[in-house]
Amino acid sequence: MNKVLGNKILNKIKEYDNIFIFGHIRPDGDCYGSQFGLQEIIKYNFPKKKVFVITDKCDYVAFLGSGEEIDEQLLVNGLAICVDTGNASRVSNQAFLSAMEIIKIDHHEPEDHYGNINYELPDYPATCQIITEIAMELGLKVNKAAARALFVGIVTDTGWFHYRGVTELTFQCAGFLTNNGVEVDEISDKLGGISLNELRFKGVVIDLLKWRGGFLYCVLTKEIIEKYGLTDEQASNCVNYFSQVEGFPIWALIIENQNGNIRIRLRSNGINVVPLAHKYQGGGHEMAVGAKLANWNELENFINDGAQTVEDSKK
Ligand code: AMP
Repeated sequence: MNKVLGNKILNKIKEYDNIFIFGHIRPDGDCYGSQFGLQEIIKYNFPKKKVFVITDKCDYVAFLGSGEEIDEQLLVNGLAICVDTGNASRVSNQAFLSAMEIIKIDHHEPEDHYGNINYELPDYPATCQIITEIAMELGLKVNKAAARALFVGIVTDTGWFHYRGVTELTFQCAGFLTNNGVEVDEISDKLGGISLNELRFKGVVIDLLKWRGGFLYCVLTKEIIEKYGLTDEQASNCVNYFSQVEGFPIWALIIENQNGNIRIRLRSNGINVVPLAHKYQGGGHEMAVGAKLANWNELENFINDGAQTVEDSKK
């Protein structure tokens, strides 16, 4: 870890009475885990401080906490900490810009150094690992609520330690968190639940699977999602069904959201897909990116580009 930056962040936390923790649009487990984990750590170590989590809702990790309203008056004299968000425009509530100072803590490819302090570690598999390491190295106390939240972030962003970027440090952090109260079976149960409709939808998604060259993809229209009564978030979780299919190192889920936006969730096994995401208003990590289609006319080009990316990787 970068102890100099870690200490700078800690000093800023000590300096401010009111701290606002922001995350990204469409928050996920790592975003929620970082927000609520950091909130708990600050409150536990500095009980006089007021710490607010400002976030959109994420159903599958809603058991970690819920967001609060912003008190603008407090914010302008307060500290904003934005977690798990690579660029300023993806912060879910742009009010963070009016804070007195901004700290960015993130593990995405840094596209935009929008903080006064930028703690960016793109090699780490989860922002929760960064926060856990800061707590371990700087001797901050971690209560059970913080440990649970941070553990959730690590296991969701690494697919329970499956993905690239998992190192000895990841397991050290997970061990540290279990020593501080995490019950692994409880978290596994909470994250593993699936409704009957989600199970039925799984079959539909696998039926709709298509491929071009080594590129596997599935298009989900809002009509199909509505038919099974699922939320956009539930439908978008299907991207993980297509990992590890032999001969298909890149796969994507193309989802039409209820608001008509066409979202792409793109994953790879060993091939850098960031350039492909950049072509379609997206970004993210080397092997896990998000992007958008401006309209359905772009679909054909996107599929060709996906297949071409696999071909190019063979050269
Ligand atoms: P997702 O498929 O939405 O889980 O996204 C995979 C990763 O890419 C996550 O870390 C997101 O934060 C990031 N990401 C998703 N969409 C975008 C985007 N439009 N621009 C930049 N990063 C994105």
